[in-house]
Amino acid sequence: MTIKTYNFPTRIMIGEGAADLLAAQLQAKSIIRPQIVTDSGIAGLEMFTILMSKLQLAGLEPAVFSDFSGNPLESHVNAGVKHYKKNNCDSCVLIGGGAALDVGKAIALMATNAGTLFDYEDEKPGALPVLNALPFIVAIPTTAGTGSEVGRSSVISDDKTHTKKIIFDPQLLPKLVIADPLLTVGLPSFVTATTGIDALTHCVEAFLTPMEHPMCDGIALEGVRLVSQALVTAVQNGSDIQAREKMLHAAMMGSVAFQKGLGVTHSCAHAMSAVFNTHHGLANAIMFPACMKFNAEAVPEKFERLAQAVGLQTHSAEAFINWYLDLAQKVDVPMGLQHHGINITDQLVDLSLADGCHNSNPRKVSREDFIKIFEEAL
Ligand SMILES: [Zn+2]
Repeated sequence: MTIKTYNFPTRIMIGEGAADLLAAQLQAKSIIRPQIVTDSGIAGLEMFTILMSKLQLAGLEPAVFSDFSGNPLESHVNAGVKHYKKNNCDSCVLIGGGAALDVGKAIALMATNAGTLFDYEDEKPGALPVLNALPFIVAIPTTAGTGSEVGRSSVISDDKTHTKKIIFDPQLLPKLVIADPLLTVGLPSFVTATTGIDALTHCVEAFLTPMEHPMCDGIALEGVRLVSQALVTAVQNGSDIQAREKMLHAAMMGSVAFQKGLGVTHSCAHAMSAVFNTHHGLANAIMFPACMKFNAEAVPEKFERLAQAVGLQTHSAEAFINWYLDLAQKVDVPMGLQHHGINITDQLVDLSLADGCHNSNPRKVSREDFIKIFEEAL
């Protein structure tokens, strides 16, 4: 097996079979009782059972917490903290997509710090500082999309109001990522496609953000290139390990790059998820072309570089958007809001405008602009 290891700044071990290294990595840190945080769907999979039995065979005592699925809530975190303490755990291993990582990071925070979770809400007046060190966090992604495994935030919703709250602290950054493409081969093709387009959108929006950050720009462009090479193959032939591995890289690169910020596509997507419960990756996928068309006139030179990154002969925004439409067709994600039961409502437009992501968009977006963009995406 060929596992590549690098620090960026997270230590990342990536390659086919990398998950087999988990036990040794934990033992090297004198960990005995890791809390395993995963959603109930993954806890029922064979690959998960195998992973747990390997830990037990190595003499570890994993305590599995999987009493949650879907949108992460504060009550999930509270139950997880109780579970962590009751089982006398000494670390957190987060296995899954965005939800498991969000819940697990928040559990790790509250396992050693006082108060309630939302006392630590980012930018809240009077928010508590994170005073105590968090337990060792390992993240094992099972999708290639959010890239949350290399991120320093956790998004948890209030049980009553359903408002999403962001907890942000450098300590939430997992200390080790184990990215094993074998864990993603069982993903349904639609999930592979939409999470992969989410990763693409992260890279593209981060690149288009006006903030000067050449390091992130380089990572974003290479992430775009990897998606152009691997997404269609990963969707059409789910067991292609090389394509799966490239998508895992692209997802992490998107997450690293969007420290710069995101853009108008994500504002639309967040509103669509809130109003119509649209899957995040799908929402981005549908909105991407209209949003890019809107952005094209503001930063044509950046679109030239995007077109170059995906290997096009013609370096223009139009060519890049057409490349995307062709990609969406190949991975079987139909465009058009009406195909997905979404219509333009005042609430949808209001929430898009209220979302913070478009503040870092290369072109200012007004309420009228949002309406025009949604109409374009119908
Ligand atoms: Zn996203």
